[in-house]
Amino acid sequence: MTKVLNPDICVIGGGAAGLSVAAGAAAFGVPVVLVERGLMGGDCLNHGCVPSKTLIAAARHAQAIRVAGRFGLTASEPVVDYARLHARIHDVIAGIAPHDSVERFAALGVDVLQSSGRFVDENTLAAGGHLIRARRFVIATGSAPAIPPIPGLDKVPFLTNETLFDLTRLPAHLVIIGAGPIGIEMAQAYRRLGAHVTVIESRRALADADPELSAFALAALGDEGVVLHQSTTIGAIEQIGGRIVLRCENASGAFSVEGSDLLVAAGRRANHASLGLAAAGIDHDANGIVVGPDLKTSNRRVHAIGDAAGGLQFTHVASYHARLVLQQVLFRLPAREDRAIVPRVTYTDPEIAEVGLSEAGARDKFGAVDVIRTDLILNDRARTDGVEAGLIKLVVGRRGRILGAGIAAPGAGELISMWSLAVANRMTLKQVRGYVAPYPTLSEIGKQAAISYYAPLAKNAVVRSVIRALRVFG
Ligand SMILES: Cc1cc2nc3c(=O)[nH]c(=O)nc-3n(C[C@H](O)[C@H](O)[C@H](O)COP(=O)(O)OP(=O)(O)OC[C@H]3O[C@@H](n4cnc5c(N)ncnc54)[C@H](O)[C@@H]3O)c2cc1C
Repeated sequence: MTKVLNPDICVIGGGAAGLSVAAGAAAFGVPVVLVERGLMGGDCLNHGCVPSKTLIAAARHAQAIRVAGRFGLTASEPVVDYARLHARIHDVIAGIAPHDSVERFAALGVDVLQSSGRFVDENTLAAGGHLIRARRFVIATGSAPAIPPIPGLDKVPFLTNETLFDLTRLPAHLVIIGAGPIGIEMAQAYRRLGAHVTVIESRRALADADPELSAFALAALGDEGVVLHQSTTIGAIEQIGGRIVLRCENASGAFSVEGSDLLVAAGRRANHASLGLAAAGIDHDANGIVVGPDLKTSNRRVHAIGDAAGGLQFTHVASYHARLVLQQVLFRLPAREDRAIVPRVTYTDPEIAEVGLSEAGARDKFGAVDVIRTDLILNDRARTDGVEAGLIKLVVGRRGRILGAGIAAPGAGELISMWSLAVANRMTLKQVRGYVAPYPTLSEIGKQAAISYYAPLAKNAVVRSVIRALRVFG
């Protein structure tokens, strides 16, 4: 018999976004039903951030062995036991999984339904033999790999992020379709682990990043032996004698790329096809479910958050969205998404991290802006650690206000945090100049950049005459 549930909140999707809403609401004693059709923890834990960063960590160690000669050690070609690396990836996932588990959420007081959810009308979701009539619904159904309509792709075996981390052998030659953050991160990692890697991209690699910053990562990939074809279209794909062959074309003409394995990393599409959105009066477009700045859908009782909402697709965006929804639903306070405060990181070596406005975006919005560039090589810690190239770039508005920051450096994802704080709090370079940074750290480069902004002050005639006058007093 169909059971009717009447929670305050029904969350659809148990990934980063949905779990954050469910845990937050339960912490305040609010009745919540969480509907999850697959693995708790969603993409980030099972097929995304966690396995990819575990793989990247192994690749970084492999590369350290390879380049150890620069540090006065004996370098060698690393011996990779890929089956053990596969086991480690799944150990790391298993170590985090209890935090996202059905058991933990049940203990928090969340009613977890392990089933697919589908709206039957504007106020009701059907899931696992239940009808859920909640005061509010939160769609947090995430995204899936987009599969481009390339002739022949449907006839050859290929990997996506959902199957890549199940491999127990190192691909001999991995061909990657797509040079966005996922494709480029995986390209460098697999190359460092010893695979041949070729990447094919129809536009520009890392197209959403500032080209001046992404150039550092792309140069590193090139030096390490990743072959990258940009502005290249793939006309057809076929399997010939166990090899995958891609027929490509770019400005130089037609050519073929042949590999042992194929990874499709050609973007993401929001998961909403099976949600019955029409029955609930919820609009969607090519990017995902349509939401306003308050993350409400066209059905005002339904929010959509995380990857499903089709904006910036990061785990920290999923948790940020969850906070904005809780603010509205629990406390009835207004909340609006501010994309300018969201950091964007690509975990290559060097990492590329940005927050706020890019140089081009700031010029479009404000006309004249100042741009400060400081090379990482000016930083002592970069010297001691053998970092050969990198950059911090600050976009500065009137009265020294920090509009945006971009960093190409090892650990840029860590370094960008203080700039996220600065952008979110509309801070100025004067405040950055005034704080004390520990020596020797890479983070000092930000302070160096801030000081360079004020360097012309030292030559200012008025300032100099004031200092001269003050000398009279001894
Ligand atoms: C390879 C890779 C690496 C990444 N690395 C990073 C990184 O380093 N840093 C970062 O910030 N982000 C990273 N991301 C992005 C990050 O994983 C996503 O932004 C994040 O997982 C989005 O969380 P979500 O909760 O919106 O969606 P998801 O995690 O996808 O969760 C959605 C959940 O909804 C469930 N679901 C879907 N439809 C239904 C339905 N009808 N009924 C019930 N349940 C349903 C799904 O089973 C899933 O569990 C990476 C992504 C990939 C693919």
